[in-house]
Amino acid sequence: MNETQTVGGAVAAVPDGSLSGRLVLVTGASRGIGAAIALRAARAGADVAVAYHEQADEAGAVADQVRSLGRRAATFAADLADTGQARAMVARVHDELGPIHGLVNNAGIMPQSAFLDISDAEWNEVLSTDLTAAFACSQAVLPGMLEGGSGSIVMISSRLGQIGFAGVAHYSVAKAGVIALAKSLAREFGPRGIRANAIAPGVVVTDMGAQVMDGEVGRRRMAELPLGRFGTPPEIAEAAVFLLSDASSLFLGQTLNPNCGGYMP
Ligand code: NAD
Repeated sequence: MNETQTVGGAVAAVPDGSLSGRLVLVTGASRGIGAAIALRAARAGADVAVAYHEQADEAGAVADQVRSLGRRAATFAADLADTGQARAMVARVHDELGPIHGLVNNAGIMPQSAFLDISDAEWNEVLSTDLTAAFACSQAVLPGMLEGGSGSIVMISSRLGQIGFAGVAHYSVAKAGVIALAKSLAREFGPRGIRANAIAPGVVVTDMGAQVMDGEVGRRRMAELPLGRFGTPPEIAEAAVFLLSDASSLFLGQTLNPNCGGYMP
């Protein structure tokens, strides 16, 4: 918070959208929405920990772009479906780059299966990647945030986590779960300066989004949207940086809905 303003006789700090001097850890940052958040956070002044799974080259390119913006960056490999790897990754970030101020739980998968065809293994893989990883990463960053007295945790949920959807029951359940996780963390840690919120995009133009964008079904879905188009990663990144920064100082346990008007809670 930089400027101050006198309001009703009291001097109040004016919150701004800067992330200057802060370290943000973004999971699934090798491509798509995660990469856009990493770059937007760097443009807002943050140093960035680029967490990735198998795409080392892509993650390295994102880190290079962050550095070209004058910020520090490093890449961190982990299969976040494994809570041990998730926790170890957070520890490596802390050791290498220092205290983490912001965490974006973005990594995710969305296999599509009719409900009666979902195997135990597929159910568990989606819940591990899309929900349990957010639990493990949040639990691992919180002690450092508590020590620093502030922090912001952002869950990348989905419109489908609010409405449910045929063919992606596991994904919808996991995305509903991270919304509840954000609310629970906000209630438990808000009094100690840590905010947690969620973002629930509609269809976004990425590799994952391509699964539902193409063909007749995609065209019909797009035509039904009040905005008449799908979202893009940089548009989701705006919401993420808002929630990471002090500009959102009064937001706790909220879900932002950048969804082209596709769902209005
Ligand atoms: P994407 O497939 O382009 O990127 C997903 C990222 O998650 C990749 O970097 C991938 O490596 C990483 N990841 C996957 N499994 C992992 C694992 N086991 N360990 C570590 N990292 C792993 O998808 P995206 O569209 O950029 O999606 C990003 C987030 O946004 C996801 O949580 C997704 O559910 C959510 N979302 C996407 C859309 C959309 O239409 N694209 C809509 C709503 C929500």
